[in-house]
Amino acid sequence: MEHYDRAETWDRETIERVQLVRLKNTLRQALRSPFYKDLLGRAGVSPENMRNLADLRQIPFTSKEHLRAAYPYGLVSVAKDELVRFHASSGTTGTPVVVCHTQDDLDCWADLMARCMHMVGIRRGDVFQNIAGYGLFTGGLGIHSGAERLGCLTIPAGTGNTRRQVKLLRDMRVTALHIIPSYALYIGNALLEEGEDPRSLPPRIALVGAEPHTDEARRRIEDLLGLKAYNSYGLSEMNGPGVAFECLEQNGLHVWEDAYIAEIVDPDSGEPVPDGEQGELVMTTLCRRGMPIIRFRTRDLTCFLPGDCPCGRKHRRLARIAGRVDDMLIIKGCNIYPMQVEQILMSFREVGENYLIVLENEAGMDRMRVQVEVRSEYFVDDMRALTALQRKIANRLRDEILVTPKVDLVQQNSLPRAEGKAKRVEDRRHAGI
Ligand code: ADP
Ligand code: ZN
Repeated sequence: MEHYDRAETWDRETIERVQLVRLKNTLRQALRSPFYKDLLGRAGVSPENMRNLADLRQIPFTSKEHLRAAYPYGLVSVAKDELVRFHASSGTTGTPVVVCHTQDDLDCWADLMARCMHMVGIRRGDVFQNIAGYGLFTGGLGIHSGAERLGCLTIPAGTGNTRRQVKLLRDMRVTALHIIPSYALYIGNALLEEGEDPRSLPPRIALVGAEPHTDEARRRIEDLLGLKAYNSYGLSEMNGPGVAFECLEQNGLHVWEDAYIAEIVDPDSGEPVPDGEQGELVMTTLCRRGMPIIRFRTRDLTCFLPGDCPCGRKHRRLARIAGRVDDMLIIKGCNIYPMQVEQILMSFREVGENYLIVLENEAGMDRMRVQVEVRSEYFVDDMRALTALQRKIANRLRDEILVTPKVDLVQQNSLPRAEGKAKRVEDRRHAGI
């Protein structure tokens, strides 16, 4: 295995030994913040209690609500003049959460990110275009710093302006890029519609992440743009991107256990679930001084993939994120995740890249409507063909989610598109119309 740094090659024993040492240090550091002084004090937990990694479970969870209540500086564990940057989550699920970093924290993050990129074959000399928001959102500066650390010629392209993005990709002979999956599909299709071949674009590697997407969507990105797409997972509370990343095997994301402790728990009981079983990811920082966060409930659903990865890395693998705990829709008593719907939709070649799940209430009954863009070549005048397609999609969805949704077929590019992360669900149940 070619590696970026030593920690990437550690065996299980080394990883776990280092984790315990770093956990104790992290607790010591965290106790300097008003928030953890209070939380750990009340729970009676001190670094000395941690005799092995399982002792971690004595520590209470930290939730997004905690972070919001401690806004803005309640979790800071260093003198303020040591802080050099702050970021915030994009606020997909409410008020943003702020995270402050020291210079060491940023260096460590850049190295983790560089390790991810190196793992999928990006090297010094590559030309890297970062198509991500450069504001408080961590996908901008986070990925940017990793790319520079690796020695790539890094283009801070930002989001939007598809034409300019494409021009940069071509003119600069970009070899690798970062892009959110919904925008990758959009750019590819925009080119197709203009009669251009998106596969002729120079990049051979894409990092895709920041929003839930299925393996089907990934394959579409790869086919459409003629490159390899690797799943990138992270969240602002844990720095941002660089937390877990797919290797060349494209089968699960290695979570960097020298820098984090990952647990997967039952979202209701908080108890650990066995490998292979889905639960909520809980994360602890091990290399952060400015603002350590311990046992953070990410709300993201995944599982540990059992067994070793053929690539040889011993950092455990997370399955593709199935969705957020909060994403679960309950319709007529059935639990439904938007990614189940996406998986079915993407398996129809007639279906385009954009879709929207609309929740409605009709005479007191909740109902689900799925609006689906149909590719231009299939959006024909033949009513019978379209009705048959509509029925086929509704039936396949019913088999998967056990509820029969109403399916609307709409023209390509007619559904609203978000600037950043795609919005897949619109709840009109309490709209009062
Ligand atoms: P927000 O919670 O406001 O979206 P962030 O910008 O920090 O804040 O985004 C982190 C979240 O984005 C994660 O908790 C997860 O839900 C989602 N996410 C990030 N990367 C991926 C990925 N590769 N697959 C699925 N979801 C992802
Ligand atoms: Zn691997």
